[in-house]
Amino acid sequence: MSPRRIGVMGGTFDPVHHGHLVAASEVQSRFALDEVIFVPTGQPWQKSGRRVTRAEDRYLMTVIATASNPVFSVSRVDIDRGGQTYTVDTLRDLHEEYPDDELFFITGADALEQILTWHKAGELFDFAHFIGVTRPGYRLNSHHLPSGKVSLVEVTAMSISSTGCRERVERGEPVWYLVPDGVVRYIAKKDLYRKDAEA
Ligand code: ATP
Ligand code: MG
Repeated sequence: MSPRRIGVMGGTFDPVHHGHLVAASEVQSRFALDEVIFVPTGQPWQKSGRRVTRAEDRYLMTVIATASNPVFSVSRVDIDRGGQTYTVDTLRDLHEEYPDDELFFITGADALEQILTWHKAGELFDFAHFIGVTRPGYRLNSHHLPSGKVSLVEVTAMSISSTGCRERVERGEPVWYLVPDGVVRYIAKKDLYRKDAEA
């Protein structure tokens, strides 16, 4: 069997939103990927000084958001490993699971910068080709990129962030059409992101 082309979209997904979904869909189509696997991160105690929603809730929202797309799926590797997620561990585990396939790690401009400044960034390229997608508010800088290892892609601008969605819910504002309908309902059902609610 010829190797499959598998996209890997890592994220906290707290919550998953249409910016993530458009980026994944666009890259899937442009790079003729057979599948895109969304990989919610393990449970860091906090991220940028705030508590992160339980992994199980972030996982389920990602499943709800991707369920209707036949080429999207969700992996639990980072959640089941637990603790802070490092991209190199994600890619090593997925490479073990799909040894004969080609991995393409999809990442927004902001996250790409962070990943590439990681001190052992070189190791990452043993496991995957990197695809950096544009994101409103961040510049994709092609300097310092290792040649042939990273592709930069313009995706339709979606000025949506999980932080923005959480803040809207906290203020009692709607997130309809920023996140999939099922995710709007899941947030309400679990009372996520309300000030006095438990994370
Ligand atoms: P937070 O505000 O909590 O950091 P986020 O919206 O940045 O959330 P993450 O889960 O941190 O979402 O991001 C996962 C991946 O998706 C990262 O590679 C990020 O750059 C990318 N991404 C997030 N939002 C967008 C967007 N609107 N357009 C393109 N890429 C995006
Ligand atoms: Mg982010």
